[in-house]
Amino acid sequence: MANIDRRQFLKLCTASAAAVGLSQLWVPAIGEAYRKAAGGNPPIIWIQGSACNGCSTSLVNTVHPDMRELLSEIIDLSFHPGLSSGAGNLFIDGLYRIATENKGKFILVVEGAIPLAHKGALNTIGEDSSGKAVTLIDLLKNISGSARFIIAVGSCASFGGISAAEPNYAECVGLEKFIEVNKVINIPGCPPHPDWIVGTLAHLLLYGPPVLDDYGRPKMFYGGLIHNNCPRRQYFDNSIFAKNFGEDGCLLYLGCKGPLAHGDCPTRLWNSTSSWCVDVNAPCIGCTDPSFPDLTMPFYKRMPEIKGPGITSTADAIGIGLGVATAAGLGAHLAGNYFTGRIGPRKHKEEEDV
Ligand code: SF4
Ligand code: SF4
Repeated sequence: MANIDRRQFLKLCTASAAAVGLSQLWVPAIGEAYRKAAGGNPPIIWIQGSACNGCSTSLVNTVHPDMRELLSEIIDLSFHPGLSSGAGNLFIDGLYRIATENKGKFILVVEGAIPLAHKGALNTIGEDSSGKAVTLIDLLKNISGSARFIIAVGSCASFGGISAAEPNYAECVGLEKFIEVNKVINIPGCPPHPDWIVGTLAHLLLYGPPVLDDYGRPKMFYGGLIHNNCPRRQYFDNSIFAKNFGEDGCLLYLGCKGPLAHGDCPTRLWNSTSSWCVDVNAPCIGCTDPSFPDLTMPFYKRMPEIKGPGITSTADAIGIGLGVATAAGLGAHLAGNYFTGRIGPRKHKEEEDV
Protein backbone atom coordinates (compact mmCIF):
# COMPACT_ATOMS: atom_id res chain seq x y z
CA MET A 1 0.00 0.00 0.00
CA ALA A 2 2.90 2.30 0.66
CA ASN A 3 3.81 2.01 -3.00
CA ILE A 4 0.45 3.20 -4.23
CA ASP A 5 0.99 5.08 -7.46
CA ARG A 6 -0.82 8.18 -8.57
CA ARG A 7 -3.22 6.39 -10.88
CA GLN A 8 -4.31 4.06 -8.10
CA PHE A 9 -4.64 7.01 -5.77
CA LEU A 10 -6.84 8.90 -8.24
CA LYS A 11 -8.92 5.82 -8.81
CA LEU A 12 -9.56 5.52 -5.11
CA CYS A 13 -10.31 9.22 -4.81
CA THR A 14 -12.79 9.26 -7.65
CA ALA A 15 -14.48 5.96 -6.88
CA SER A 16 -17.89 5.70 -5.33
CA ALA A 17 -17.73 5.78 -1.56
CA ALA A 18 -20.04 2.81 -1.48
CA ALA A 19 -17.62 0.75 -3.52
CA VAL A 20 -14.30 1.92 -2.19
CA GLY A 21 -13.37 4.90 -0.12
CA LEU A 22 -10.40 6.92 0.93
CA SER A 23 -10.29 4.75 4.02
CA GLN A 24 -8.34 2.16 2.11
CA LEU A 25 -5.52 4.62 1.81
CA TRP A 26 -5.12 5.36 5.45
CA VAL A 27 -3.19 2.38 6.68
CA PRO A 28 -0.14 3.21 8.78
CA ALA A 29 2.14 2.48 5.84
CA ILE A 30 0.79 5.45 3.97
CA GLY A 31 2.03 7.74 6.72
CA GLU A 32 5.49 6.37 6.07
CA ALA A 33 5.01 6.94 2.36
CA TYR A 34 4.22 10.58 3.08
CA ARG A 35 7.34 11.07 5.12
CA LYS A 36 9.43 9.40 2.45
CA ALA A 37 7.88 11.32 -0.41
CA ALA A 38 8.03 14.66 1.29
CA GLY A 39 11.32 14.20 3.15
CA GLY A 40 9.41 14.60 6.42
CA ASN A 41 5.89 15.89 6.64
CA PRO A 42 5.96 19.56 5.72
CA PRO A 43 4.28 21.81 8.25
CA ILE A 44 0.83 23.10 7.53
CA ILE A 45 -0.03 26.63 8.57
CA TRP A 46 -3.81 27.06 8.65
CA ILE A 47 -5.10 30.60 9.00
CA GLN A 48 -8.62 31.97 9.06
CA GLY A 49 -10.08 35.03 7.41
CA SER A 50 -13.69 36.08 7.21
CA ALA A 51 -15.41 32.76 7.85
CA CYS A 52 -17.74 30.85 10.14
CA ASN A 53 -15.23 28.14 11.12
CA GLY A 54 -17.38 25.58 9.27
CA CYS A 55 -14.51 24.38 7.07
CA SER A 56 -12.39 23.58 10.12
CA THR A 57 -15.38 21.83 11.65
CA SER A 58 -15.77 19.79 8.49
CA LEU A 59 -12.10 18.78 8.62
CA VAL A 60 -12.42 17.72 12.25
CA ASN A 61 -15.29 15.47 11.14
CA THR A 62 -13.03 13.50 8.84
CA VAL A 63 -13.72 9.80 9.29
CA HIS A 64 -11.13 7.99 7.19
CA PRO A 65 -8.68 8.96 8.50
CA ASP A 66 -10.08 10.29 11.75
CA MET A 67 -8.61 13.48 13.17
CA ARG A 68 -6.24 11.62 15.51
CA GLU A 69 -4.80 9.59 12.64
CA LEU A 70 -4.65 12.63 10.43
CA LEU A 71 -2.68 14.67 12.96
CA SER A 72 -0.43 11.92 14.26
CA GLU A 73 0.25 9.91 11.10
CA ILE A 74 -0.22 12.10 8.10
CA ILE A 75 0.09 15.84 8.46
CA ASP A 76 1.99 18.20 10.68
CA LEU A 77 -0.57 20.83 11.53
CA SER A 78 1.87 23.32 12.99
CA PHE A 79 -0.53 26.20 13.35
CA HIS A 80 -4.30 26.54 13.53
CA PRO A 81 -6.14 29.43 15.24
CA GLY A 82 -8.60 27.09 16.92
CA LEU A 83 -6.44 24.06 17.60
CA SER A 84 -3.11 25.64 18.54
CA SER A 85 -2.49 26.85 22.04
CA GLY A 86 -1.09 30.28 22.71
CA ALA A 87 -2.45 33.78 22.55
CA GLY A 88 -1.41 37.37 21.97
CA ASN A 89 1.96 38.15 20.46
CA LEU A 90 3.25 34.66 21.31
CA PHE A 91 0.65 33.36 18.87
CA ILE A 92 1.72 35.68 16.06
CA ASP A 93 5.43 35.34 16.75
CA GLY A 94 5.10 31.55 16.75
CA LEU A 95 3.36 31.62 13.41
CA TYR A 96 6.05 33.80 11.84
CA ARG A 97 8.76 31.59 13.33
CA ILE A 98 7.26 28.45 11.78
CA ALA A 99 6.98 30.17 8.41
CA THR A 100 10.57 31.44 8.56
CA GLU A 101 12.08 28.14 9.68
CA ASN A 102 10.19 26.28 6.95
CA LYS A 103 10.58 28.71 4.10
CA GLY A 104 9.74 27.04 0.79
CA LYS A 105 8.44 23.94 2.55
CA PHE A 106 5.23 24.69 4.39
CA ILE A 107 1.72 24.41 3.05
CA LEU A 108 -0.40 27.49 3.66
CA VAL A 109 -4.10 26.78 4.11
CA VAL A 110 -6.48 29.71 4.19
CA GLU A 111 -10.06 29.36 5.41
CA GLY A 112 -12.33 32.36 4.84
CA ALA A 113 -12.36 35.36 2.56
CA ILE A 114 -9.99 38.31 2.69
CA PRO A 115 -11.72 41.55 3.77
CA LEU A 116 -10.05 44.44 1.98
CA ALA A 117 -12.06 47.34 3.44
CA HIS A 118 -10.32 49.67 5.91
CA LYS A 119 -6.95 48.29 4.85
CA GLY A 120 -7.87 44.88 6.23
CA ALA A 121 -8.50 46.13 9.78
CA LEU A 122 -11.78 44.20 9.91
CA ASN A 123 -9.73 41.00 10.07
CA THR A 124 -7.09 41.88 12.65
CA ILE A 125 -5.76 38.63 14.01
CA GLY A 126 -3.52 39.82 16.81
CA GLU A 127 -0.48 41.91 17.52
CA ASP A 128 3.23 41.30 17.22
CA SER A 129 5.81 41.64 19.97
CA SER A 130 6.10 45.38 19.30
CA GLY A 131 2.37 45.81 19.93
CA LYS A 132 1.57 46.48 16.28
CA ALA A 133 -1.76 45.13 15.07
CA VAL A 134 -1.40 42.36 12.49
CA THR A 135 -4.14 41.97 9.91
CA LEU A 136 -4.79 38.96 7.73
CA ILE A 137 -3.59 41.04 4.79
CA ASP A 138 -0.28 41.74 6.59
CA LEU A 139 0.12 38.08 7.36
CA LEU A 140 -0.58 36.94 3.82
CA LYS A 141 1.79 39.52 2.40
CA ASN A 142 4.52 38.38 4.77
CA ILE A 143 4.29 34.61 4.49
CA SER A 144 2.43 33.58 1.34
CA GLY A 145 5.50 34.03 -0.86
CA SER A 146 7.41 31.50 1.28
CA ALA A 147 4.79 28.75 1.04
CA ARG A 148 5.39 25.68 -1.09
CA PHE A 149 1.70 25.27 -1.81
CA ILE A 150 -1.32 27.44 -1.03
CA ILE A 151 -4.78 26.01 -0.54
CA ALA A 152 -8.01 27.98 -0.26
CA VAL A 153 -10.36 25.85 1.82
CA GLY A 154 -14.05 26.58 1.41
CA SER A 155 -16.06 28.79 -0.90
CA CYS A 156 -15.21 32.01 0.98
CA ALA A 157 -11.46 31.50 0.61
CA SER A 158 -11.86 30.25 -2.96
CA PHE A 159 -14.26 32.75 -4.49
CA GLY A 160 -15.51 35.05 -1.73
CA GLY A 161 -18.54 32.89 -0.95
CA ILE A 162 -21.02 33.92 1.73
CA SER A 163 -18.52 36.45 3.11
CA ALA A 164 -18.53 38.33 -0.20
CA ALA A 165 -22.29 38.16 -0.72
CA GLU A 166 -24.10 41.38 -1.44
CA PRO A 167 -23.77 44.05 -0.11
CA ASN A 168 -20.25 42.98 0.89
CA TYR A 169 -19.45 46.04 2.97
CA ALA A 170 -16.21 44.40 4.11
CA GLU A 171 -15.11 44.10 0.45
CA CYS A 172 -14.29 40.43 0.87
CA VAL A 173 -12.51 38.60 -1.94
CA GLY A 174 -11.30 35.07 -2.49
CA LEU A 175 -7.65 34.27 -1.99
CA GLU A 176 -6.72 34.13 -5.64
CA LYS A 177 -7.79 37.73 -6.09
CA PHE A 178 -5.20 38.63 -3.50
CA ILE A 179 -2.38 36.21 -4.27
CA GLU A 180 -0.76 35.21 -7.54
CA VAL A 181 -3.55 33.31 -9.30
CA ASN A 182 -1.99 30.05 -10.34
CA LYS A 183 -0.48 29.27 -6.96
CA VAL A 184 -3.81 28.76 -5.23
CA ILE A 185 -5.60 25.42 -5.17
CA ASN A 186 -9.29 25.97 -4.50
CA ILE A 187 -11.32 23.51 -2.43
CA PRO A 188 -14.73 25.18 -2.45
CA GLY A 189 -17.83 24.01 -0.64
CA CYS A 190 -19.85 25.46 2.17
CA PRO A 191 -18.26 23.61 3.81
CA PRO A 192 -16.04 21.36 1.67
CA HIS A 193 -16.23 17.62 2.25
CA PRO A 194 -13.41 16.48 4.58
CA ASP A 195 -12.23 14.01 1.92
CA TRP A 196 -11.74 16.90 -0.50
CA ILE A 197 -9.42 18.63 1.98
CA VAL A 198 -7.56 15.54 3.18
CA GLY A 199 -7.38 14.02 -0.31
CA THR A 200 -5.92 17.21 -1.77
CA LEU A 201 -3.34 17.39 1.01
CA ALA A 202 -2.51 13.74 0.36
CA HIS A 203 -2.03 14.37 -3.34
CA LEU A 204 0.19 17.36 -2.66
CA LEU A 205 2.38 15.43 -0.27
CA LEU A 206 2.67 12.33 -2.40
CA TYR A 207 2.61 13.57 -5.98
CA GLY A 208 2.56 17.37 -5.99
CA PRO A 209 -0.32 19.55 -7.21
CA PRO A 210 -3.37 17.71 -8.58
CA VAL A 211 -4.90 18.48 -11.96
CA LEU A 212 -7.18 21.49 -11.60
CA ASP A 213 -10.21 22.67 -13.52
CA ASP A 214 -10.78 26.18 -14.85
CA TYR A 215 -11.69 27.38 -11.35
CA GLY A 216 -8.61 25.94 -9.68
CA ARG A 217 -10.48 22.97 -8.18
CA PRO A 218 -8.93 19.46 -8.12
CA LYS A 219 -10.62 17.52 -10.89
CA MET A 220 -10.44 14.32 -8.87
CA PHE A 221 -13.19 15.71 -6.62
CA TYR A 222 -14.88 18.40 -8.72
CA GLY A 223 -14.67 16.83 -12.16
CA GLY A 224 -18.34 15.95 -12.54
CA LEU A 225 -21.67 17.72 -12.27
CA ILE A 226 -23.87 16.90 -9.28
CA HIS A 227 -26.76 16.53 -11.72
CA ASN A 228 -25.06 13.80 -13.75
CA ASN A 229 -24.78 11.41 -10.81
CA CYS A 230 -27.97 12.35 -8.99
CA PRO A 231 -30.24 9.42 -8.15
CA ARG A 232 -33.19 11.63 -9.10
CA ARG A 233 -31.86 12.14 -12.60
CA GLN A 234 -34.41 9.74 -14.09
CA TYR A 235 -37.15 11.96 -12.73
CA PHE A 236 -35.55 14.95 -14.42
CA ASP A 237 -35.21 13.16 -17.74
CA ASN A 238 -38.86 12.15 -17.58
CA SER A 239 -40.05 15.61 -16.50
CA ILE A 240 -41.29 14.45 -13.12
CA PHE A 241 -40.74 17.34 -10.74
CA ALA A 242 -41.49 17.61 -7.04
CA LYS A 243 -43.78 20.56 -6.30
CA ASN A 244 -43.40 20.37 -2.53
CA PHE A 245 -40.58 19.30 -0.27
CA GLY A 246 -40.78 15.65 0.68
CA GLU A 247 -42.31 14.57 -2.62
CA ASP A 248 -40.70 12.20 -5.07
CA GLY A 249 -39.35 13.81 -8.20
CA CYS A 250 -36.53 16.00 -9.40
CA LEU A 251 -35.98 19.06 -7.18
CA LEU A 252 -35.36 21.49 -10.04
CA TYR A 253 -38.55 23.45 -9.42
CA LEU A 254 -37.70 23.64 -5.73
CA GLY A 255 -34.45 25.40 -6.57
CA CYS A 256 -31.95 22.63 -7.21
CA LYS A 257 -28.68 23.94 -8.67
CA GLY A 258 -27.28 20.47 -9.31
CA PRO A 259 -27.08 21.13 -13.08
CA LEU A 260 -24.45 23.83 -12.52
CA ALA A 261 -22.55 22.63 -9.43
CA HIS A 262 -19.49 20.41 -9.66
CA GLY A 263 -18.64 17.85 -7.01
CA ASP A 264 -18.91 14.18 -6.17
CA CYS A 265 -21.47 14.53 -3.36
CA PRO A 266 -23.92 11.98 -4.85
CA THR A 267 -21.27 9.24 -4.96
CA ARG A 268 -18.94 10.14 -2.10
CA LEU A 269 -21.79 11.01 0.26
CA TRP A 270 -21.46 13.03 3.46
CA ASN A 271 -21.53 12.32 7.18
CA SER A 272 -19.65 9.07 7.14
CA THR A 273 -21.15 8.07 3.79
CA SER A 274 -24.68 8.22 5.15
CA SER A 275 -26.35 10.83 2.95
CA TRP A 276 -26.10 14.01 0.94
CA CYS A 277 -28.25 17.09 0.23
CA VAL A 278 -30.69 15.77 -2.39
CA ASP A 279 -30.91 12.47 -0.52
CA VAL A 280 -32.55 14.32 2.38
CA ASN A 281 -34.93 16.21 0.07
CA ALA A 282 -32.86 19.40 0.09
CA PRO A 283 -32.00 20.92 -3.27
CA CYS A 284 -28.33 21.36 -4.09
CA ILE A 285 -27.66 25.07 -3.54
CA GLY A 286 -24.55 25.04 -5.71
CA CYS A 287 -22.16 25.63 -2.84
CA THR A 288 -19.06 24.61 -4.81
CA ASP A 289 -19.69 27.00 -7.68
CA PRO A 290 -18.03 30.41 -8.06
CA SER A 291 -21.51 31.87 -8.51
CA PHE A 292 -22.50 30.86 -4.96
CA PRO A 293 -24.35 32.47 -3.25
CA ASP A 294 -25.27 35.69 -5.06
CA LEU A 295 -26.23 34.02 -8.30
CA THR A 296 -27.61 30.79 -6.87
CA MET A 297 -30.10 32.58 -4.62
CA PRO A 298 -32.97 32.31 -3.96
CA PHE A 299 -31.96 28.84 -2.91
CA TYR A 300 -35.45 27.37 -3.08
CA LYS A 301 -36.59 28.90 -6.34
CA ARG A 302 -35.97 27.55 -9.77
CA MET A 303 -33.16 29.29 -11.59
CA PRO A 304 -34.60 30.12 -15.00
CA GLU A 305 -31.24 29.70 -16.73
CA ILE A 306 -31.26 26.02 -15.86
CA LYS A 307 -33.39 24.51 -18.57
CA GLY A 308 -35.50 21.42 -18.28
CA PRO A 309 -35.04 17.99 -19.86
CA GLY A 310 -33.40 17.88 -23.24
CA ILE A 311 -30.22 19.68 -22.23
CA THR A 312 -28.36 16.51 -21.29
CA SER A 313 -25.70 16.81 -23.94
CA THR A 314 -24.80 20.34 -22.91
CA ALA A 315 -25.28 19.98 -19.16
CA ASP A 316 -21.61 20.53 -18.39
CA ALA A 317 -21.64 23.77 -20.32
CA ILE A 318 -24.17 25.24 -17.92
CA GLY A 319 -21.69 25.47 -15.09
CA ILE A 320 -19.16 27.36 -17.18
CA GLY A 321 -21.69 29.52 -19.00
CA LEU A 322 -23.93 30.35 -16.10
CA GLY A 323 -21.90 33.34 -14.98
CA VAL A 324 -22.58 35.14 -18.22
CA ALA A 325 -26.15 33.97 -18.69
CA THR A 326 -27.26 34.63 -15.17
CA ALA A 327 -25.41 37.86 -14.77
CA ALA A 328 -27.12 39.14 -17.88
CA GLY A 329 -30.46 38.24 -16.35
CA LEU A 330 -29.83 39.64 -12.91
CA GLY A 331 -28.58 43.08 -13.66
CA ALA A 332 -25.54 45.21 -14.09
CA HIS A 333 -24.03 44.77 -10.66
CA LEU A 334 -23.80 41.01 -10.81
CA ALA A 335 -22.75 41.18 -14.42
CA GLY A 336 -19.95 43.38 -13.12
CA ASN A 337 -18.88 40.54 -10.85
CA TYR A 338 -18.43 38.32 -13.84
CA PHE A 339 -16.71 40.79 -16.06
CA THR A 340 -14.36 41.99 -13.33
CA GLY A 341 -13.38 38.41 -12.84
CA ARG A 342 -14.93 37.59 -9.46
CA ILE A 343 -16.79 34.60 -10.79
CA GLY A 344 -15.14 34.01 -14.11
CA PRO A 345 -13.00 31.00 -14.96
CA ARG A 346 -9.25 31.22 -14.95
CA LYS A 347 -6.71 29.58 -17.13
CA HIS A 348 -4.75 26.77 -15.59
CA LYS A 349 -1.91 24.73 -16.90
CA GLU A 350 -2.98 21.11 -16.86
CA GLU A 351 -0.46 18.32 -16.52
CA GLU A 352 -2.64 15.33 -17.24
CA ASP A 353 -6.32 14.60 -17.04
CA VAL A 354 -7.71 12.50 -14.23
S1 SF4 B 1 -31.97 19.01 -10.86
FE1 SF4 B 1 -31.22 18.39 -8.82
S2 SF4 B 1 -32.68 16.86 -8.05
FE2 SF4 B 1 -33.01 17.08 -10.26
S3 SF4 B 1 -31.74 15.46 -11.16
FE3 SF4 B 1 -30.50 17.34 -11.18
S4 SF4 B 1 -29.32 17.29 -9.27
FE4 SF4 B 1 -31.00 15.77 -9.05
S1 SF4 C 1 -24.95 18.70 -3.10
FE1 SF4 C 1 -24.63 20.81 -3.78
S2 SF4 C 1 -25.11 22.12 -1.96
FE2 SF4 C 1 -24.85 19.98 -1.25
S3 SF4 C 1 -22.69 19.91 -0.60
FE3 SF4 C 1 -22.78 19.15 -2.73
S4 SF4 C 1 -22.39 20.98 -4.02
FE4 SF4 C 1 -22.90 21.71 -1.94
